Amino acid sequence: MGIKENLDVIEKNISSAALKSGRKREDILLLAVSKTVDIERMEEAKALGLTDMGENKPQEINRKFFEIEGVRWHQIGHLQTNKVKYIIDKVCLIHSVDSLRLAEEISKRAAAKGIVKDILIEINIGREESKHGVYLEEAEPLAVEISRLPGVRVKGLMTVAPFVDDPEENRGLFRQMKKLFVDIMNKNYDNIDMEYLSMGMTNDYTVAVEEGANIVRIGTGLFGARDYTVKDNK
Ligand SMILES: *Cc1c(COP(=O)(O)O)cnc(C)c1O
Repeated sequence: MGIKENLDVIEKNISSAALKSGRKREDILLLAVSKTVDIERMEEAKALGLTDMGENKPQEINRKFFEIEGVRWHQIGHLQTNKVKYIIDKVCLIHSVDSLRLAEEISKRAAAKGIVKDILIEINIGREESKHGVYLEEAEPLAVEISRLPGVRVKGLMTVAPFVDDPEENRGLFRQMKKLFVDIMNKNYDNIDMEYLSMGMTNDYTVAVEEGANIVRIGTGLFGARDYTVKDNK
């Protein structure tokens, strides 16, 4: 199926999941995950209205940034401190902050450019060894520490849930994310603005939206299977 057909299905699913959780389609951002996707197909997605694109690797953002216009870039993959400098003035949101050290580097680089960078705290909700992110109970203290840095603004939480056969298995985890999101929001910390809850991917985005996600990150479901054999994608 083409991107258009895939998008039609995704739009329907997001709309009905939004309704189930008492919201509207416009309340949820569909982030097109374009890692390994070539510029031609990204242009196609853009023409269909998908202007927010998510990438894993700073190198890939750095390259594609100059090849396509009118895109809002999101860093969604693990970010090493030494790569911050490549994307600091290119991305609108960094989803994957999981240490004070990384936040300090982002703050330093942002301040040097006279900007304040929006970031999300990444939580390893399934407590999986293979995943990045902090444990649920570490997220609030980390957010508070980060909120004192001048060059970043904490805008919410993000997670990559476990890969499961049945997305229902992740419902309880998404619910835990939403609960923490609301708990932190209600405390009204200075410089913490709980606006985005980034969770749900191709496999489980419907359940994630039903449980309160307002950014879903979808790659395969939109562009089809990724091709990691292309040299630039490695
Ligand atoms: C690749 C990736 C996605 C998208 O995954 P799909 O299953 O292809 O939708 C979402 N979030 C992150 C952090 C990713 O690395």
